[in-house]
Amino acid sequence: ANENPYNAPINRYPDPLQESLKIQIAKYKEVRPESIFLGNGSDEAIDLVFRVFCTPGVDNVVAIAPTYGMYEVCAEINDVEYRKVLLDENFQIDASKILASCDENTKVVFICTPNNPTGNNISRVEIEQVLKNFDGIVVVDEAYSDFSKSRPFRLDLLQYPNIIVLNTFSKAWGCAAIILGMAFASPQIVNLFNKVKYPYNINVATMKIVCDLLTKGIDEEVEQIKQQRALVAEALAEFKFVERVYPSDANFLLVEVVDADAMYDFLISRGIIVRNRNRVKGCEGCLRLTIGRPEENEALLKSISEYEKSVVR
Ligand code: PMP
Repeated sequence: ANENPYNAPINRYPDPLQESLKIQIAKYKEVRPESIFLGNGSDEAIDLVFRVFCTPGVDNVVAIAPTYGMYEVCAEINDVEYRKVLLDENFQIDASKILASCDENTKVVFICTPNNPTGNNISRVEIEQVLKNFDGIVVVDEAYSDFSKSRPFRLDLLQYPNIIVLNTFSKAWGCAAIILGMAFASPQIVNLFNKVKYPYNINVATMKIVCDLLTKGIDEEVEQIKQQRALVAEALAEFKFVERVYPSDANFLLVEVVDADAMYDFLISRGIIVRNRNRVKGCEGCLRLTIGRPEENEALLKSISEYEKSVVR
């Protein structure tokens, strides 16, 4: 392959199908290696869904709203119409509403669970209804499922030949810097992704880091984040200008406050960056707060109490 014979071990191209890493991931995730696609983040898999299954300018996809922004970004880039179905007041879906938004050119439905930015699990029964009744691909993005008690859909791949489940090493695994995403699907779908992706999409350094990490696991850190999530949620609910702390199955909390923009600016002035979702339909007045280490969460709560003092005065 016209490589340099010196400078081992990084002088050779990596395995384009990442076979040994997939064997390790397969054991951990309880899926077959041939049902695993690895991407440059789950974002690569999201883009491939459009490139493989949609014809630009003709097809459309349907997604819940509000949700993760990358589905819409990739739809636009690939010139595919993006149809939104608004979640209800409990941030839940009605399968019949999703199915009613589909037509003969709808190739994909996107459902994120636990959903970003709302934080909650989407009803399994409704997702199953979509999987059974939609004659196309259903992407179930479980980027945050490690923080949830619910049964993940990746364990039910054989039941649903049209499902693509997304997972990532960027959240519970704490590896956002190396950008490694997973898609779990039938071997036929994985083969299509492998034909379209760049040949060497995952580099050797990334594979080595993840191989080492998989032997160590993440249970302790995830447990710690879940405990902190409960503590932070409880503390937030005490503030007068916090109107609602939404229940979360993820590593973040969606919080409705009296003046989201003002609180966002105040936190920025204290060196804390949260996500302002005030202008997102369905999340008006809301900030999304990521759970950090205990000392970071304390710093956040301290800044919020300073903010309260400054507005109540
Ligand atoms: N899916 C969801 C729901 C996300 O929130 C994110 C990151 N914010 C991703 C996928 C992206 O994952 P990755 O870092 O693997 O591209």
